[in-house]
Amino acid sequence: MAKTTGGCLCGNIRYEIEGEPFRMVNCHCDDCRKVTGSAYATNLFFQEDQITLLQGTPKRFEHVADSGNSMFKEFCDTCGSQVFGGGAIRPGVKSVKVGSIDDASFVEPTANLYISHALTCTHVDEDLDNFEQMPPPA
Ligand SMILES: [Zn+2]
Ligand SMILES: [Zn+2]
Repeated sequence: MAKTTGGCLCGNIRYEIEGEPFRMVNCHCDDCRKVTGSAYATNLFFQEDQITLLQGTPKRFEHVADSGNSMFKEFCDTCGSQVFGGGAIRPGVKSVKVGSIDDASFVEPTANLYISHALTCTHVDEDLDNFEQMPPPA
């Protein structure tokens, strides 16, 4: 995979990513559901310096997760699309919301997090690494 491009719905925010994500997961936690407005979030994790913002400035919302750690979400303040996330627990790392990626055909999540919070209508692939809550730190 060479370069990955993406952005928000209205096109104000555009980014480019160099190289592969080191982690791809589906997260079923309450925060991910709320912030995406969807059944769960698929998040790709990159080192911050792999990501180049080509256009626009995401608005940042900071909050405290149930772990007690401060986290942030970055989104377009025109169309509301969620683009990036991150947290104090992993400095230098950003997550990218799969829905913001132009061509996400390479995406293969390896794990489901917080399946204890998954909606009853959500199909959880039993062949992946599935964690009731957060997995223990790697
Ligand atoms: Zn937008
Ligand atoms: Zn989550």
